[in-house]
Formats: sequence, structure tokens, C-alpha cells
Amino acid sequence: MDYKELSQLIYPEITKTPEDYEAMYPPRNLPEGAMVTRLGPSPTGFIHLGNLYGAFVDERLAHQSGGVFYLRIEDTDDKRFVENAVETVISSLGFFDIKFDEGVTEHGDVGDYGDYTQSHRGEIYRTFAKWLIAQGKAYPCFLTSEEIDSIRAEQEAQKLAPGIYAGWSRYRDWDKDPEIQAEVISKIKAGEDFVIRLRSEGTPNAAGQDIKRNKVVDAIRGGLDVPENFQDIVIIKTTGIPTYHFAHVIDDHLMRTTHVVRGEEWLPSLPIHVELFRDMGWELPVYCHTAQLMKIGEEGHKRKLSKRKDPELSLSYYRDMGYHPAAVREYLLTILNSNFEEWRIANPEADIDQFKFTTEKMSNSGALFDLDKLNDVSKDVLLRIPAEELAQFLKNWSDEFAPEYGFMFEDMDYLTQILNIGRGDKKPRKDLIYARQIVSFISYFFDESFKIEDKYPEEAAEDADEILREYLSTYDHSDDQSQWFEKIREIASSCGYAAKPKDYKKNPDDYKGHVGHVSTVIRIALMGRAQSPDVWTIQQIMGEKKVRQRIEQALTDR
Ligand code: GLU
Repeated sequence: MDYKELSQLIYPEITKTPEDYEAMYPPRNLPEGAMVTRLGPSPTGFIHLGNLYGAFVDERLAHQSGGVFYLRIEDTDDKRFVENAVETVISSLGFFDIKFDEGVTEHGDVGDYGDYTQSHRGEIYRTFAKWLIAQGKAYPCFLTSEEIDSIRAEQEAQKLAPGIYAGWSRYRDWDKDPEIQAEVISKIKAGEDFVIRLRSEGTPNAAGQDIKRNKVVDAIRGGLDVPENFQDIVIIKTTGIPTYHFAHVIDDHLMRTTHVVRGEEWLPSLPIHVELFRDMGWELPVYCHTAQLMKIGEEGHKRKLSKRKDPELSLSYYRDMGYHPAAVREYLLTILNSNFEEWRIANPEADIDQFKFTTEKMSNSGALFDLDKLNDVSKDVLLRIPAEELAQFLKNWSDEFAPEYGFMFEDMDYLTQILNIGRGDKKPRKDLIYARQIVSFISYFFDESFKIEDKYPEEAAEDADEILREYLSTYDHSDDQSQWFEKIREIASSCGYAAKPKDYKKNPDDYKGHVGHVSTVIRIALMGRAQSPDVWTIQQIMGEKKVRQRIEQALTDR
């Protein structure tokens, strides 16, 4: 029996050839330099910051170059499939403005290079596996797990590299030994379990011999010196399902991917992919191995973000907290490209998409993720978003994640004015960070969420009632800011407080306190807090009725 006959015995139902698929999926008709990228998540239902980080790179590379970014579902590990996982991927990334041009969508596949779900591509993988067997580049292997264990023990004893490679699987050279050949044929006919292994052309590193190396260019890391693969890795599992290695090579070739962006955890298997592409006679895509996302852990050491310890690893965290997608995007760019912050300083108002993202400016050692930094970036980004738009964003967030704040959205004009406080100033206030923080920050504007949080200052606590009564009786809602403040000074003086803090500082014994203590009493009665933006401005937004009600309430509550 020759290779070809063996391939026919294993896959009699496969009638297509690699040429058929090459013809079905011709090179894409795209302008010179256009990049084709993909995201290949496993449908586990957990979509994390790392996915977003990688997807951002994919999206930028494709869309900056006039190329294509597509979604492929990598569900060859069928144990992990979670209901609605595909919708979760699409909607989670869509929220951050990462949009696919092609591939799996909520309404089926879009594009000419599908099917885009690996579990639907069995015939394709088998066709290429059949072809490799027919070339003598792959073989069926019947080693049991016990046999593999004892091979490993033997390799350990001999201090050899572990694994199945030349000299270790008796099935590798089945064609040279009539006895093994007969065994292989009868086992296939009897329907016994087997895997298909690559018949690696690499040379195992015998003692004292250096392993050969290949040069591979990584767009983030530059030239890599990759050791040659010599392992007869499994390409098709006993279940008939391909391994990641094989599926990735076939798919990225047939879908005409130009740039493979993936996590650096795949670097160790790069030698396998280099060999597979070569065995298939295909050009290697440009690999972009992204750095791990790290954080400064509790003990001050850099460590990987962990699913168990760090809620911020999950994308749902940002949506639940109500981070604006523009803020997350802006922050991701600061960790993705070292020159982004400089660009932003030079172009404070520019649309983020005008920044030219490049893989060369990406870090190749752990990218540091820092929530405090995200919050700082978010403060600036929210300042650039018009208040009406921000109000709508908050409403959408509340509808989905925090309906208990629904009362804040009954009067959108009121909310918009609240959000606008201090934004137009020369040194604008940077109070707003993310939805959960914002609704708490502005809670005192609404009777439903207003509560007294701080105590009256000691200096003025005893006179609080008098101060508030005075305030109420002299209050005129049409006073401008300086008239209003003049009245506060008068109240201060009449109650025995210095009208100017500096007078109090000079002669503290002459006064009970100063005007600041008096205005804090008013502030606490109105806002429940000792700190807030400008009181006069807030009163103008709240309206006269609410101002009077709050002061009266403070008087009766005491
Ligand atoms: N399915 C792989 C994963 O979830 C994708 C790796 C790749 O992008 O090639 O890690």
C-alpha cells in the first residue's frame, strides 16, 4: 500500500482536493498593503480585556490599511461551548466600537471565505489531512496513552526530549515494515481509534547536536530566531477534530489572513506553525505576538491579570461600571502604542482614529494595566463628550445595568445641565469618570437619592439653624453670583463670623469662625456634602423650589 492508498483508506468520503479549495478561496482582491486580520475566540462566554486588546490591534491594522477584519469562531474544543457565546463576543466588542467586516455575525456568516466556524469546517481539514497523508507528510498513529507514558519514561531515562518524533512512534514509518503496514490497515478497517500526526521533517536534537533554527519576522518583536520543530504533533484528534495548530494554519491560509495577532502564549508553538505552513507550501502570515497584560499586584510586584483575582479582566466589568467605550479605547491605545500620549498632547481634540497605530510601537514585554490610569484618561475623555451625549450614555447604562437610577433620566435637560457644571471653564472640572461613580457624584440633585452625608463644621454647628433661617429669609433666586455671596458675608457677620477668612486667621479670638464655615452649613443643607461644585451654580440648576425645600428640610430635621 502506498501513501495515496492509505489516505484513501482513511478518508474515502473526501473527494475534494486542496486545489478545489484554493480555487474556492482565491487571494483577496484588495489594494496593495491592505491587511487582513481576524479574531479567533473560543466560545467560552468569557470575553476579557486581552481579547479586546488583541481585537483592537486587529481592527486598527485592517481598517487603517483598507483591509478586512473578520470574526472566526474557534470551537474545536467542543467541551467549552457556551450558549450565546458568539453574541457575547460580538456585542462586547461592538460596545467598544470594534466592528467586524466579515465572518460570523448574529445573523449567520457574512463574506466569501467561510464557513467561519471551525466546527463546520471538518471536510476542509480532512481534505488537507488526506493530502498530507498522500504526500507521506502525515500518518495515522495508534499509540495508546499507556504506550505514550512509557515512551516518555524511557525518554526521561535517556535524557531525551519528550514527545513523539522520529524513532518513537512505530507507525511513523509504517510503509517500511510489512508487519506494521498490515497492522495499520487492519486497525483502520476495524475502526480503531487513531490520531493523525504530522511526520515532521525536523531533526531531533541528538546529544551534542544543535537544533536548527529558522528566522521569522514578528511585527511586534522584530526578527525571531525560532527553533526547528521536530515533533510529530497531532493534527487531527481521535474525534476527527483538528488541533488548534492545524486549524489555524488551514484557516488563516484559506481565509487569506495577512497578519495573525495573538497572545504571546502562542510563541512556543510557533515552530510547529512554521513547519506546517512550509509543508503545505504556503506563505507564512505576519505574526504579531502581543504582550501579556500585567498589573502591579498587592505586593507591589508585576503579575499577570488573573480571572479569579481581578474583576477588571472581564469586559463585563467595564460595562457594568459604566466606563464610556471611548475612554476604554483611549486608554487601551496608551498602553498599546508608546507614542500615543505624546500624540494626544499635540492633538487634544483629534478623533482617536487619526492616530496612526503601528505594531512597531507596541511593547513586547508585559503591558501594564492600571485602573487609576484608566480613570485619569476617562476624566479627560468625558470632557470631550458633549453633556447631552453623556446624559444619553448614562441612561442607556442605567437601563441595562442599574435601573434603580431610572429617576435621574426623567428630565434629560436637568441631567444635561448637571453634567455640564464646570466643564466650559478654563480649567475644567474633572469630576466625571464612569457611570457608577457619576450617579453617586450627582445623587444630591435628586430627592430620591439625596442624603446628608457630612456633618456641619464644628465652628458653625451651634449656629446652623440661625444661619439657615437667615439664608432662607434673604434668599432671592434671581441674585447673581456676587449678590448671592455678598448676602452670605452679611449672614456671617451678623452671626459673629468673619466675612473674610483672612480676618479670622489674623484674629481668631474675635470670631466664631469665618464665612467658609457659614457657607459649608448651607452647602451641607443643600447638597448633603461639605465638598461640591459652586453652590450658586448648583442652586440655579436645582431651581428655587428645591433650594427652599432643602433648607426647610434641614431646619425641621434638627
Ligand atoms: N482560539 C485561540 C484562542 O482563543 C485563538 C488564537 C489565535 O488567535 O490564533 O486563544
